[in-house]
Amino acid sequence: MNNKIKNYQVWFVTGSQHLYGAETLKQVDKDSEIIAKALNSAEKIPVEVVFKPVVTTSDEIYNICNLANNEKNCVGIITWMHTFSPAKMWIGGLSILNKPLLHLHTQFNRDIPWNEIDMDFMNLNQSAHGDREFGFICTRMRINRKVVVGYWQDEKVQEKIGIWTRAALGYNESKGLKICRFGDNMREVAVTEGDKVEAQKILGWQISYHGVGDLVQSVDAVSEAEIDGIMAEYKANYQMNTTALENVRYQAKIEIGLKRFLDKYNYKAFTTNFEDLHGLKQLPGLASQRLMEQGYGFGAEGDWKQSALVRIMKVMSEGLKGGCSFMEDYTYHLDPRQPSILSAHMLEICPTIAEAKPGIEVHALGIGGKDAPARFVFNVPTGKGINATLIDMGGRMRMIVNPVEVVKPEALPKLPVARALWVPEPNLEIGAHAWILAGGAHHTSFSMALNTEYMEDLAEMVGLEFVIIDKDTNIREFKKELRNNDIYYNHKI
Ligand code: MN
Repeated sequence: MNNKIKNYQVWFVTGSQHLYGAETLKQVDKDSEIIAKALNSAEKIPVEVVFKPVVTTSDEIYNICNLANNEKNCVGIITWMHTFSPAKMWIGGLSILNKPLLHLHTQFNRDIPWNEIDMDFMNLNQSAHGDREFGFICTRMRINRKVVVGYWQDEKVQEKIGIWTRAALGYNESKGLKICRFGDNMREVAVTEGDKVEAQKILGWQISYHGVGDLVQSVDAVSEAEIDGIMAEYKANYQMNTTALENVRYQAKIEIGLKRFLDKYNYKAFTTNFEDLHGLKQLPGLASQRLMEQGYGFGAEGDWKQSALVRIMKVMSEGLKGGCSFMEDYTYHLDPRQPSILSAHMLEICPTIAEAKPGIEVHALGIGGKDAPARFVFNVPTGKGINATLIDMGGRMRMIVNPVEVVKPEALPKLPVARALWVPEPNLEIGAHAWILAGGAHHTSFSMALNTEYMEDLAEMVGLEFVIIDKDTNIREFKKELRNNDIYYNHKI
């Protein structure tokens, strides 16, 4: 199917037991296969859904969990209890399962067949209590999972499973993600710091440092002919709104050298720092934008947490409408008619969120003391998006997510950067208040393809503290939530 992301799977595992005889189990198997096939062909579920024969004993459950753990392409399992499945049988399997878990609380028949229903029917269709038994053991074992309730053919149910599946793809990417830091993070800045050992332990990130000289060497090795090739691509795909083509050519040169370096070590995300550019003539602007467009994560000023988050959110949103970019809350518009935030960065905003064909421009940069860098300039379309960030609280990471509504800015004739004007939920006053109380960074990962549910599912899989700021946020309650979270998470350390 062409809407499927290749090679990845989720497994559909149905629990039952032998109490009701072989005939019932055959029927359970048949019904489960029908559901698995329907989910497999659901447009909203982006990977293959693989039916697994019904499990009825502790050993079978342990084995299927063990197989899922060891199958590289399996990004998660969906469980459902067609009949009652005594949940002590699940303890062994669940205690070793290291893949994301979705508990689908559904029933094969949508309706009760009022005239035909008898005790055989009742014993075959027991998820109303079988899934409660399963839910108990998950809760008793403190297992993070997503519970989806509803009829399996319902589009909303399938959409929720699809969202979880995409979060599972992000989780899979996170485990083993390699992030390249060129230089350290910006001097004196607090929020871009973090515990890299903890990040590797919890999120699976391998965060490595390279001197910018290693990058310079790769950039210097790029030939004029290679630059010609990339320049042709620029001219074909973007508006060349500059005559300073030498400066554009230099970004093309960085792009090729940077990409070659990242690919050599299998880095999928990177950071730069304008304070550490020895041997580079420009801060990587257009080059970083182009690599983000190709799917790499990026963080400015050494911000490896946001770089990794951008990469993971790009993987989660593969094939969806709307892009994802590194972002920074920059300047406010405090007009009481619509208080809003102008978000941008010095240069590095990803063109996947551009409203129209991006223009390439060259302008001097006030900081860094380097040549005028080429960069894309564009607006972002109006509509819904989310702003997400990760901060290090000392001992744990906190993810903060705020839905925003992108609105149309006035003309900005003298502002030579890509930018988005948005109103955060529930409004600027409460949104920014809560963000600051939560310790939210100025750097974020912004997406118009994902909503908060994707991020919540991801945070659940990792076990991250997840803080949402939206239309239901009330500052007094929010403060309590932050204090309670401190107790809960410190207790876990
Ligand atoms: Mn910045």
